Amino acid sequence: MIGCGHNASWRGKGTPDEGTFVKRVVVFDGLNEFAVRPRATFDEYIALLQQDIATHSGDLSARTSVPCPGCGLSGIEHMFTKFTFVYVRCTSCGSIFVSPRPTPSALHAFMVSSRARRFWSSTVEVETARNRTQSIMHPRAAWVQRGASDLHRPVLVDLYTKYPTFLEIVNRDGMFSRIVSVEPVADLRDLARSPALQVLQTLRDAAAGGLTASVLSAQECLERAEDPDLMMRSGADLLQDGGLLFLTTVTCGGFDLQVLGGRSKNVLPPVHLNLLSLEGIRRFLAHHGFQIVELSTPGQLDVEIVTHAVAEDPDIVLPPFVDELIRHRDRSVHQAFQQFLQEALLSSHVRLVARKTRSGGGTG
Ligand SMILES: [Zn+2]
Repeated sequence: MIGCGHNASWRGKGTPDEGTFVKRVVVFDGLNEFAVRPRATFDEYIALLQQDIATHSGDLSARTSVPCPGCGLSGIEHMFTKFTFVYVRCTSCGSIFVSPRPTPSALHAFMVSSRARRFWSSTVEVETARNRTQSIMHPRAAWVQRGASDLHRPVLVDLYTKYPTFLEIVNRDGMFSRIVSVEPVADLRDLARSPALQVLQTLRDAAAGGLTASVLSAQECLERAEDPDLMMRSGADLLQDGGLLFLTTVTCGGFDLQVLGGRSKNVLPPVHLNLLSLEGIRRFLAHHGFQIVELSTPGQLDVEIVTHAVAEDPDIVLPPFVDELIRHRDRSVHQAFQQFLQEALLSSHVRLVARKTRSGGGTG
């Protein structure tokens, strides 16, 4: 792992981090797409998701337009439709999101009963557990622990825990005095036996119990949140002033999403609802009282995802430059280009640390 710092280069309105030093990290460890998403299994997951949508079409039919989850503004243009869900682009910050969308309760009910989700837990996660642990969970745990190392006996709150392994690792290493998983997506019954680890079923429970954290972890949940504003407002309320947020998400500004749009397997409604641009992420966090101190796009899979997509579907038409790169250049060029994407903040996988500087805003 190479750590390298760059000066922030944000533009536009509301730039609390402008002029400050924002750390940027580049990562290469040989991760490949099929190690975490085996093609046949992942395609089966996608087919099940489409069946779920058809089965629940009645429950999902009432949809309401929402403002941009990044900047809160309402100017939009249509981008693409996938599995009956319309993705639009914010004309102000460039974020791409599902609108109109089903109500949060309908989306929540869909996810709870989703056969695709159960298949993901029982099959995809099991098949890829070793690779995910090695290439994603260990580095993620090390990143959070390193970033929080200056805090005295920190308390960690992890929102919507998706992978128990991440919490297992940070719990085993003993750095945090207390670890709380709030509204876990995963089954944490085994993990909850540890005395240092607590599971709270709702953010409301956490607030009512007077929980205060010095570290807030939000891994792969911003893009999935039915109401991102509510999620971050509730999470930030648990974080003490000066506390740190560690967040990973998918950005629409990444190479594979820019090239493939709705054809990307990284875009699966109604799982992926909010694909914020970096500008949208910055405005979203500023609104909630955060200052970004580290921002990287350490994704390793953008070029490989596009390469696999055009191999599966030769009819995909690419812009001439991208066609030359993807179809006519070899693996060494692909790797060099992926490294460039990381350095230029142009990969679709975002990883950031932000410090809470004040109580955030209200809605939108
Ligand atoms: Zn926006």
